[in-house]
Amino acid sequence: MNPAILRLQVQWVAISFLHGQTDAVNTVSNSRTVYDLLCIGAGPTGLACAIEGTRAGMRVLVVDKGCLCNSLYHYPVNMVFFTTPELLEIGDLPLVCAAEKPTRAEGLKYYRKVVEHYGLEVRLGETVEGVDGADGHFQVHTSAANGERATYSSRKLVVATGYYDLPNRITVSGEDLPNVSHYYTEPHPFWRKDVVVVGGKNSAAEAALDLYRNGAHVTLVHRDATLGSTIKYWVRPDIENRIKAGEIRALFNTRVVRFESEAVIVRGPEGEQTLPAVQAFAMTGYHPDFTFLRSLGVELDPATNKPRLDSQTLESNIPGLYLAGVVIGGNHTSEIFIENGRFHGKQIIASLTGSPLQVAP
Ligand SMILES: Cc1cc2nc3c(=O)[nH]c(=O)nc-3n(C[C@H](O)[C@H](O)[C@H](O)COP(=O)(O)OP(=O)(O)OC[C@H]3O[C@@H](n4cnc5c(N)ncnc54)[C@H](O)[C@@H]3O)c2cc1C
Repeated sequence: MNPAILRLQVQWVAISFLHGQTDAVNTVSNSRTVYDLLCIGAGPTGLACAIEGTRAGMRVLVVDKGCLCNSLYHYPVNMVFFTTPELLEIGDLPLVCAAEKPTRAEGLKYYRKVVEHYGLEVRLGETVEGVDGADGHFQVHTSAANGERATYSSRKLVVATGYYDLPNRITVSGEDLPNVSHYYTEPHPFWRKDVVVVGGKNSAAEAALDLYRNGAHVTLVHRDATLGSTIKYWVRPDIENRIKAGEIRALFNTRVVRFESEAVIVRGPEGEQTLPAVQAFAMTGYHPDFTFLRSLGVELDPATNKPRLDSQTLESNIPGLYLAGVVIGGNHTSEIFIENGRFHGKQIIASLTGSPLQVAP
């Protein structure tokens, strides 16, 4: 074993002992493993936490409701990360990509390889439904799609559940029709078809451009007078020029009234109008599962929904329960992304082992 890992492992056993947790690391109690750390969420952040825990000699389990990096898997099929590869790396492993920035497929391959490299223990397709117990002896209850249930024991918990599962709904009728989606996937089925994209930020602009470039007739509907200020500097001129040229039709100061099976009814400066559309993409953002966080006992700021936590250790108001990644941002989902969330594992494990933090978050 790597001497550094062995040293940390001994250190972690000593810490567990000092905290009165007499089960040694990696022990199985009553034929059931007691993990030192359980990470809820196998996104880049949860994996980074698991790696740091493993490096510190802990026995770590990662549980995810979907596949590995389930959010990234559901991103637009042809997506290219806006981040250069070195800023997406975890566990000090290089992300190699063909062009300047990695594609979704390269990112997914990278994170698969990272898990294999570190031999992380990962349970996929299991949704964490609830947590009992307390610091030192949490019980994490999961359910799988086939109805199977499981319970895992862990001394510490990290919640890294992201934000991509819950879209910000417009709350108009027809939003659940099969031709309305809050997730953009790919353009091919919409060649020569009318499509409406709702929203005015990056994901809406990028979906509109991708659809237009693949032969769809796109109308962009945005409730504000201009596109969002956070649109990436290389996307902005592209979308603005397509709109100026009339290649993408844009309706500003316009809101969706309702979705129908072949149209979107909107109201704007010209009054109400019917936009024919075989498909509508409501790209109105996403938010963390605040109900889940509250169910764990985590207190949220009433104004921002940011969880109460220690900004150094990332421990929440529930002792032994840590938060990592985009869940920390509350409603401000654009404050934390892979680039900075990947360091949360180092913060958490440094606090658990009492080691100095090596990399500034
Ligand atoms: C289209 C798009 C492009 C982006 N591009 C970039 C980029 O270039 N660079 C960058 O830094 N950021 C980018 N981001 C943002 C970035 O992807 C997210 O901030 C990042 O994925 C957050 O990582 P995470 O591990 O915190 O959450 P996620 O990656 O969302 O992982 C959370 C995981 O938790 C699982 N989960 C949720 N609830 C449960 C539960 N109850 N039980 C079990 N599992 C659960 C989910 O299935 C998911 O796999 C992009 C976002 C989008 C939408």
